[in-house]
Amino acid sequence: MFDMIAFDADDTLWENEVYYQQGRETFHRILEPYGVPADLDERLDKIENHNIPYFGYGVNSFVFSLIETAIAVTGEKINAGDIQKIVDIAHGMLDHKVDLFDHVEPTLKQLSGAYPLMLITKGDLLHQQNKLTRSGLESYFSHVEVVADKTRQTYDDILSRQQVNPDKFLMIGNSMRSDIIPVLELGGHAIYIPSKLMWFHEHRELPGELAQNFTELEHLEQVVEWLAANGK
Ligand SMILES: [Mg+2]
Repeated sequence: MFDMIAFDADDTLWENEVYYQQGRETFHRILEPYGVPADLDERLDKIENHNIPYFGYGVNSFVFSLIETAIAVTGEKINAGDIQKIVDIAHGMLDHKVDLFDHVEPTLKQLSGAYPLMLITKGDLLHQQNKLTRSGLESYFSHVEVVADKTRQTYDDILSRQQVNPDKFLMIGNSMRSDIIPVLELGGHAIYIPSKLMWFHEHRELPGELAQNFTELEHLEQVVEWLAANGK
């Protein structure tokens, strides 16, 4: 029996990556009058990666990277009106309603009756808190952590504070890099539920030596069956 079950939020409980992809499409359209270079997305990827240690994860960091990329690829010719349109991409993303995935609410409702549930999400504090409030899921979680990054140390710190042994901890999420591998490295358990859309940054292969406590499922509602079948 697990002492704590934790969930990732973005692309595990609700849509997220799709808005970043739509933001990129809008960005391409804004830059069209300047001539869009064939490697625009690669250049944006590189700038995003460079900016993460400065701005962290989330929409704020994304929009800084869009502006920086736009200045670079237009040879500093992008005008203020078009920079405003890029900023508007961020406003649209931050204001967007929360689109829950299927089965999320009933699954959390059921599990919260049997286990303490935690939400562990990374990104902009205000945006993540707003999304949780708008999701209507807040009452199912006994604890919420909005963190700057999800490393092995992050999980170690959270579990120490919660006084939960890693072997009694289950993390569920869509990112091998952020939700699965660091938890398995600590000796915890992890269920990987791949999302349809995935940011390149979050992709990792599972190291073979970490396979023991790893499970992959297709949908969140299968977690309930899995817990019952495995006596957890
Ligand atoms: Mg995620």
